Amino acid sequence: MPCPLLGALDCRAPRRGLSRRASALGDNARPDKTGRGTRRSAATKTDTGTFLRSLLIVASLLAAAALWRILGPAPPTSEGTVTVARTLKAVMGTDCEVKIVLRADQEPRADSAFAAAERALRDVEALMSRHIERSELSRLNGAPAGEKVPLSARTLEVLKASRDLHRETRGAFDVTVWPLVRLWEGAGKVCRLPSAAEVAAARGSSQWDQIRLLQDGAVKTTTTAGADLGGIAKGFGVDLAVEALKKEGISGGIVNLGGGLRCFGRPPGGDKWEVDVLDPFRADKKETFAALWIGEGAVCTSGNYHRYSLINGVRYSHIIDPSTGWPAKASPSATVVAPTCMIADGWATALCVLGPEGLALLPKDAGMEAMVVVGDPGSAVAYVTEGFPRLFKDPPGIPVKPWRSAVPVGLIHRGVERVADDAGHLFARHSHDVLRGRSADEEDPFHGTLGDSRLKRLHALRVVLLVIDLREVVQHRE
Ligand code: ADP
Ligand code: MG
Repeated sequence: MPCPLLGALDCRAPRRGLSRRASALGDNARPDKTGRGTRRSAATKTDTGTFLRSLLIVASLLAAAALWRILGPAPPTSEGTVTVARTLKAVMGTDCEVKIVLRADQEPRADSAFAAAERALRDVEALMSRHIERSELSRLNGAPAGEKVPLSARTLEVLKASRDLHRETRGAFDVTVWPLVRLWEGAGKVCRLPSAAEVAAARGSSQWDQIRLLQDGAVKTTTTAGADLGGIAKGFGVDLAVEALKKEGISGGIVNLGGGLRCFGRPPGGDKWEVDVLDPFRADKKETFAALWIGEGAVCTSGNYHRYSLINGVRYSHIIDPSTGWPAKASPSATVVAPTCMIADGWATALCVLGPEGLALLPKDAGMEAMVVVGDPGSAVAYVTEGFPRLFKDPPGIPVKPWRSAVPVGLIHRGVERVADDAGHLFARHSHDVLRGRSADEEDPFHGTLGDSRLKRLHALRVVLLVIDLREVVQHRE
């Protein structure tokens, strides 16, 4: 098996190359005892005039090129293509950058291509936004128990993908956290932490087992159940926008919607797109901390840096850990590369809940790679899947490490599942939280809602899980 750490070192090769070039120049300039160095200096003097003239010509050419770039249209590349970009304002709560590559003679088609991409995005917003009162999703969320709500094939596709992701991510991606999202948004507005009872009530009022998806609609078994597709619909919209561009005959481009993007075709003069990853610790200044090479595919980064609630000076993420009902805090930023933006979007949200532990859950052979940042600015580490370092154009300036799980895949969230079975979703704690030395009752919103005997059983279960986890740790270290 190739060592992922070697991959991480490989990706720094360009920097080593740069320093090698620098030292070669230094060697040349040094005179040597054989006098060859002196001869080289003499030759340099006779060439100075020619050299300066060449420099002047090159500088003029560069200046002319810069002027052309500023004043003229995007210059045709060597392949005779032009890149045209447009910003679509306020799509699903953010701006969308669309960049397309066209042959020079196709340029008049740019407008209709942008319009098609925008239509696709706005259609998804109209169907799936929880902020639009008449959207299909709002109708589902507002419907009484037992009433069938007809849904379009698109909304159903996203709901079904969400349900699949819920299973694959061991419950970390859960669109039914809708009431919790509203609870925490409200808490942020009045600057007051919700009570344990409020969190428990919100969690209990909406779960996947209260929503049944049908061929052409959905039925809820409780009126309170509902979904929030904010963690996946943007990615789906990007996929549809790319499809729309392809239908318009566009052979390459990027659709970038607030942290999630998809590239297709080739950029002018190259075969991979350069994609920047925002620095989670300096995202407000829009600083990037890594750059990736991406061919056909999607990249999504989720984190707690753009949208959060500030309560008593503490920043609470807009992503909810469904197992506790509290905002996720496992990772400030997770980046996922996948064939579609919908899958990348869903997994990026899930990894913010799971932390690097979740890397082990990513589907194998599905063309997916991921990077999860943990820690604080001074001590941050980027944990990556095995193939991720190969994507780096510029790796982050923090240590990049392959993730070796201390918890076997089968055990990730097993504590939660077992507890959920036992306590009917009222109590949850990760086995790996215990492993990491966090107190089991720390910030435990459901603690007070359980009887003593049940608590004792749960504590016993944690001890068993801890022993199994520790055995795994020992095996790993060996
Ligand atoms: P952003 O919308 O900032 O790009 P995400 O894609 O990570 O970030 O989506 C976050 C949104 O997903 C939240 O604002 C909320 O609407 C919804 N959400 C919150 N927690 C979860 C969760 N555990 N699973 C699925 N969706 C969630
Ligand atoms: Mg997401």
